[in-house]
Amino acid sequence: MNRAQGALWHHKGIIQAVGPTDEILSRAGKDAKQIDCQGRAMIPGLVDPHTHMCFAQTRENEFSERICGVPYLEILKRGGGILNSVDSVRRASVQDLLKNTLEHLKIALAHGSTTVEIKSGYGLDTENELKMLSVIELAGQKAAQDIAATFLGAHAIPREYKEHPDQYVDLIINEMIPKVADQGIASFADVFCEKGVFTPEQSRRILEAAMEHGLTPKLHADEVNDLGGGAMAADLKAVSADHLLAVSPKSIAKMAQAQVVAVLLPATAYSLKKTYAPARKMLNAGLAVALATDCNPGSSYVLSMPFAIGLAIMQMGLSVEEALTAATLNAAHALNLARKVGSLEPGKQADFCLLHGETPAVIAYRAGVNPMAAVYKKGRLAAST
Ligand SMILES: [Zn+2]
Repeated sequence: MNRAQGALWHHKGIIQAVGPTDEILSRAGKDAKQIDCQGRAMIPGLVDPHTHMCFAQTRENEFSERICGVPYLEILKRGGGILNSVDSVRRASVQDLLKNTLEHLKIALAHGSTTVEIKSGYGLDTENELKMLSVIELAGQKAAQDIAATFLGAHAIPREYKEHPDQYVDLIINEMIPKVADQGIASFADVFCEKGVFTPEQSRRILEAAMEHGLTPKLHADEVNDLGGGAMAADLKAVSADHLLAVSPKSIAKMAQAQVVAVLLPATAYSLKKTYAPARKMLNAGLAVALATDCNPGSSYVLSMPFAIGLAIMQMGLSVEEALTAATLNAAHALNLARKVGSLEPGKQADFCLLHGETPAVIAYRAGVNPMAAVYKKGRLAAST
């Protein structure tokens, strides 16, 4: 913060006070180590509440197809898309998956993400879903960030169950969820509820089973078609419903009432050349809107939360303040972590970023470059550019 305007005092990684510089200096005492932030804007560490960054191979070749207009569901039908990622993850070792995930996390950290959610969902059998979740757990131990793990066994129907999707749903419910819960390696369970993937009925069965095992529900909802996913998320008291490009006003109202966080993924709409989610309508309806990268090898190979923030400001009509709140405090709420991270308040972790600019507007204003001058995690310098 500008020396004339404000300062933050932290001790052992926990914020003690935030306020006018003179006041903070007198409270912290003269022995406290001082860092001059040289007039840079300070923002909370960014929280990325929706990623699939644990994967084995990129799918750059498919990108060309997609930008020529082949719809994602068509790519899925041809057995491409996500199923290619499933093949490569099944072949990959824990070490290789961990190496990729840590590389992704390092890039995300340099772009200000100090808390990151990572989903499984490229294993699609018990062994490989558990393998992915164990990689995510290891990544959480090795990376600088706090990591939240989500079980997404219901990401797609695997080839071997193409003709019997309900049998795959049974496998998720009877075998995968109990094992995931037993091992304690995921906090959340998620389902891709969409035409040609999991029906609303199947999605509900899976999430209800997950809740019985203590997992908190999330939902990939109403991305391509309005299947009432947002309303179902509200019904189940899910912590978030994500994507929501095709969400109905009725679902928006139900989500607002049930305090479900709307996690919007503008980098995916950008990459798929789709109309952005109706963020303004959501905000007007009193819905808490969060932003995420959706980093994945198919529809959004984006690790930069500043890029998502810039899109939200320039393409979705959010103000700088709304976009920043969406990428910090609301994103923390989407992970049930708002007591620990997401804002610069006493008692929370000293996760913060210094920007190459005087205000957060620089994130959208100076597009295409990393706006982060320095990223601090629990009070320690974790990345700088
Ligand atoms: Zn996703």
